[in-house]
Amino acid sequence: MRLCLAVLVLFVAVHCRKVFMGDQVLRINVESEEHIHLLKELEDDQRWELDFWTHPVSTELPIDIHVPYSSLHVTKDFLQDNKIPFSVMINNLQDLLDEEQEDLQINNIKECNAKSFDFGAYHTLEAIYSWMDTLVSDYPNLVSKMLIGTSYENRPMYVLKFSTGGTKRPAIWVDAGIHSREWVSSASTVWMANKMATDYGVDSSVTSLLDQMDVYLMIVNNPDGYVYTHTNVSSFSIFRRSSPMVMFSTQCHSTSIITLAGPGASNNPCSESYHGPHAHSEIEVKNVVDLVRSHGNFKAFISIHAYSQLLMYPYGYVCTSIPHQAELDSVGRSAVQALSSLYGTSYKVGSICKIIYQASGGSIDWSYDIGIKYSFAFELRDTGRYGFLLPASQIIPTASETWLGLKYIMEYVRDHPY
Ligand SMILES: [Zn+2]
Repeated sequence: MRLCLAVLVLFVAVHCRKVFMGDQVLRINVESEEHIHLLKELEDDQRWELDFWTHPVSTELPIDIHVPYSSLHVTKDFLQDNKIPFSVMINNLQDLLDEEQEDLQINNIKECNAKSFDFGAYHTLEAIYSWMDTLVSDYPNLVSKMLIGTSYENRPMYVLKFSTGGTKRPAIWVDAGIHSREWVSSASTVWMANKMATDYGVDSSVTSLLDQMDVYLMIVNNPDGYVYTHTNVSSFSIFRRSSPMVMFSTQCHSTSIITLAGPGASNNPCSESYHGPHAHSEIEVKNVVDLVRSHGNFKAFISIHAYSQLLMYPYGYVCTSIPHQAELDSVGRSAVQALSSLYGTSYKVGSICKIIYQASGGSIDWSYDIGIKYSFAFELRDTGRYGFLLPASQIIPTASETWLGLKYIMEYVRDHPY
């Protein structure tokens, strides 16, 4: 009940703050390299406090910019003067935030009353952690909860381990929630964890997978950031998207996990906006790195993000092909085919560098370089209509389709030992 009251207080607090009233998200479909160049200058210019949700890197992908109300006129003038076509993707950001917060609080209150977990809702960290305990107690012979360390702010970091026995069996790593504003990545992973548990012994493919391999699922990779985005509505602006997993970047951190040259990283990788509420994410990265290294038998490393509807493989830090390019591309394409079979959602497949842009420090570059061949990163729904504010009604559809893609990759890994 205390939790329910706290939730209600938060609800009121959030609704009293209209930080993003009148802010818009503009979508730009660039037509030339000159446009990209101009937009890069705009991105580097801090005066108008523009928040690039996607970056000006190629004419292939649209660029979404969150523009504060106070900068709307100048920004639109700039685009018009330079003949850069744009449309208004989100007319009033505050409306979407209000809807999301309302959904969140109503769902929390419902759960407080019903004492049941709603997979079609966004949850607090506390609720997710408590649900993990329920899953473990419902499937004690299959699922266990591992504490892999604590976050910078001393929150526990948990991994769900799916195992039917053996020690250090070949394993698959899946993580989500690294960029804390990408809520749908964690919400989908919760659903998928439940799906895997309930399908074992029922679905022959999942059964044979878990009879041979272990699966490690990390639902919230950045607990501090996750909590922060749930309690600070103004935090929204600092969770812009960058490369698929810049947390592994060493550009501005003392902890040296991988040493990469910095192409693409010079833009703004050191900004705390990439990592969460603080610039001390090293410990979260180190906890994951330590686990993966000490285990030593991971055969796949899959990182789940949002948004843009992409399935990517290494590298991000260079644009040259990896030795397993053809195989990973083909696995990616088949996985996306499986994913799309459910609702027709379309995904692009390619290397990070070619599909987004050259960026250092991605987790799947790191995992590939330590010998984990099957390294992939998903960017889930949508393609920008809601961007980071994907409505809760899309969680289960997103999770259901992603599961088909993920399952395809896991089956492939099972059937292609190395
Ligand atoms: Zn991300």
